[in-house]
Amino acid sequence: MKRDETMVNAYVPGQGHLSQADQDLIARRARLLGPAYRLFYETPVHLARGSGVWLHDAEGKAYLDCYNNVASLGHCHPHVVQATARQSAIYASHTRYLNEVVLDCAEKLLSHFPPELSQVMFTCTGSEANDLALRIAFAQTGGTGVIVTENAYHGVTLAVSGLSPSLGAGVALGQHVRTVAAPDPARLQGDLGQAFAAGVQAAIDDLTRHGIQPAVLIVDTVFSSDGVFADPPGFLAPAVAAIRAAGGLFIADEVQPGFGRTGAHWWGFQRHGILPDMVSLGKPMGNGYPVAGLVLRPEVLARFGAKGRYFNTFGGNAVAAATAIAVMEVIEQEGLLQNAAMIGAHLAQGLRDLAKRHSALGPLRAAGLFFGQDIVRDGQPAPVEAARVVNALREAGVLISATGPAGHVLKIRPPLILQRAEADLFLDRLDQVLAHPA
Ligand code: PMP
Repeated sequence: MKRDETMVNAYVPGQGHLSQADQDLIARRARLLGPAYRLFYETPVHLARGSGVWLHDAEGKAYLDCYNNVASLGHCHPHVVQATARQSAIYASHTRYLNEVVLDCAEKLLSHFPPELSQVMFTCTGSEANDLALRIAFAQTGGTGVIVTENAYHGVTLAVSGLSPSLGAGVALGQHVRTVAAPDPARLQGDLGQAFAAGVQAAIDDLTRHGIQPAVLIVDTVFSSDGVFADPPGFLAPAVAAIRAAGGLFIADEVQPGFGRTGAHWWGFQRHGILPDMVSLGKPMGNGYPVAGLVLRPEVLARFGAKGRYFNTFGGNAVAAATAIAVMEVIEQEGLLQNAAMIGAHLAQGLRDLAKRHSALGPLRAAGLFFGQDIVRDGQPAPVEAARVVNALREAGVLISATGPAGHVLKIRPPLILQRAEADLFLDRLDQVLAHPA
């Protein structure tokens, strides 16, 4: 794949500017899309095209994409683009006709799961997958209580936005939703697995005391919006045992960590040696094409399936299925799980080395090519400085973002095809940005 590092502009502090054309575009967006949309960066990026790990703006400036985990195989991967185009020209309809493609996709997908997780239902988005998982869990358990982490994000529908505290106080949590402290080793005392499970148990007890039967513990298995918590492997097991003991189900939200992001494994839950009841998928599944799904154990679907039918006009359509097959082929053929582990380890070491010279770099959490890098001042969370780093990197031609309850955690998620030279380029730019504090 063509890589054009040389097109990244040299770092010049304070280079950002907003052209008249981009100001017009911002005004047009506000007029046409209304007030709920938000743009990234103090100086928004106006993208024109993408290729591999690079994005290019309307003026031709290249950005190393270290943020977008949708184009996880790199932007516009030719094998995926061709598969989408080919299937669009053959047959592009839904799942109410007999056709092999959706079944080929299901078989390939399920081959990457433990045998107990042997069925899949297709959706268009991760939100839909989580929404469907809730409906299935409510039907199966008879309960309605849901437990999530305190800064979780699980999607946009009425049901799942109600279990997404990271949307802020303006979006109401469901009355049957309880939040638990994220498994942050810096905050929870003692054994992390036991401490996290104690929070889950307290939530179960509180639901029960209010006459609400617990139905679900749902977590993003890499706790992306909580600040990225992946270690020590296995810490999730006691919490899963707790919800099961209370008659509830465990849903692994793999929308962020799935499809190899955490390196070595296809799914984040495998890191913990646990077997979820349901697994929601999305984002990287189509490398940009909207395809998502819910993988589950057949026994949890029995009651839902008996009561009604499931049909999703676009979910699992033939083009989506062909695209997802191509995505999995690339992950297999290009050895991307291994690459994510190898380059991820290299990048993590690079961040630790940088931290020796830059006191703003606090604790780092890393799993494969997913990093949560705390930005601190005097050892305390420093969200303003984190925003400065994000914006300065944007000016320096590198795209990342910030996350966590305080917003002080750099969220770094480059494509799984990232090479060592590109990881070094990222580290070099970060080094320069940290060397020029505002
Ligand atoms: N779950 C998690 C953990 C997510 O990060 C997201 C999207 N950011 C979703 C669910 C929702 O997926 P979608 O945007 O495809 O609806």
